[in-house]
Amino acid sequence: MNYHVAQAAWLNAINNFLLKNISEIRADFPILNKKVYNKPLIYLDNGATTQKPQCVIDKINEVFSSYNGNIHRGVHAISDKASEEYETAREKVRSFINAGKREEIVFTSGTTGSINALAFSFGERYIRKGDEIIISNLEHHANIVPWQMMCERKKAKLRIIPINDNGEILFDEYLKLFSPKTKLVAVSQVSNALGTILPVKKIISVAHTLNIPVMIDGAQGVQHGITDVKAMDCDFYVFSGHKIYGPTGIGVLYGKEKWLTELPPYQGGGDMVETVTFEKTTYNELPFKFEAGTMNFPGAIGLGTALDYVLSLGREDIEMRERELLEYATNRLSGIDKLKIYGVSDKKISTISFLLKDIHQYDTGMILDKLGIAVRTGTHCAQPVMDRFGIDGTVRASMCFYNTKEEIDVLGTGIEKVISMFS
Ligand code: PMP
Repeated sequence: MNYHVAQAAWLNAINNFLLKNISEIRADFPILNKKVYNKPLIYLDNGATTQKPQCVIDKINEVFSSYNGNIHRGVHAISDKASEEYETAREKVRSFINAGKREEIVFTSGTTGSINALAFSFGERYIRKGDEIIISNLEHHANIVPWQMMCERKKAKLRIIPINDNGEILFDEYLKLFSPKTKLVAVSQVSNALGTILPVKKIISVAHTLNIPVMIDGAQGVQHGITDVKAMDCDFYVFSGHKIYGPTGIGVLYGKEKWLTELPPYQGGGDMVETVTFEKTTYNELPFKFEAGTMNFPGAIGLGTALDYVLSLGREDIEMRERELLEYATNRLSGIDKLKIYGVSDKKISTISFLLKDIHQYDTGMILDKLGIAVRTGTHCAQPVMDRFGIDGTVRASMCFYNTKEEIDVLGTGIEKVISMFS
């Protein structure tokens, strides 16, 4: 063995020693020990929301029991402490997604809140009659409806990137959608309904050659790997705290400083102002210009702790565990006769959307539920994806690092039971 090989093996051994094993990881999440219908809970609905590690639960408890004072307002000790923790959380988000400046991180209520804010603000500032926004056929309703509402207000139009039978966008068709009227591209990093990872870097670089900004909906991307907004070069990036092991009601709108400086605020109120008279109001500096009213500071602080937790596991390790789960589950489920998987791109996160021949997705979901298995059924708030495949919904098993191969086996057996019940 030469020196470098020996050194790599040694580093690997240390790394394995430092990494938590799966039972240690699962022990961090109290809900994973629960039973439903007297059966161990098998939680495979992580695309809808993720479970919370004890450290996040403890952190929120700490805020309310030790320093629940309104941020940026009081001179008193607990308000100061809450403000400091809130701004520390902002810094944690900045570093997690590798944004350049803390001023570029705006806290919102979630991905939906962020996209609505951007659609309103961007629409007010830049969109005129006849302008066009490009989105894809893979979008969640949260990345369709706010743009549609803005288009209605401004008499603008949506242009849609089509997808193929694997559930991947047709890149050549994307290129054809650009026109002198194009003002923005807004697409997902990862499809929530099918799990497809979109080629966002390529999407952005094409738009940028025409000086068109791009918003990336990271709701299903940020928790599954390393997101680097600088390397991606997106103009805006949005995500929700609750999908990355943090609290509900908190989210992030990242925007490059030059854009956030130009965009008008979308809500008025306390804290977003510098001076107010009845004649004129001047706005606060970034990012506070976009944070009107009392913010969800316990949520932001809890999100900061969730990001620390993810970093403590290691994002490469999370990606590796999830890749293994996806491979295992794809093999197990595709071996089941009468099961069809929707979304078969070779670039996917650990999500499997499927249907059983002649069995409605709700029946499948309800029987699996009685076996203790939580999956999502329906359109997954992505009706245009379902329309594209001519179906009215799927069953979705969305896995993450705390799921196990044993759980996938129980899912497989559960699905076989559903099939036998209906045959
Ligand atoms: N975009 C995508 C891709 C999503 O998966 C979701 C949540 N399912 C959203 C947007 C909306 O997120 P939230 O409900 O947290 O605002």
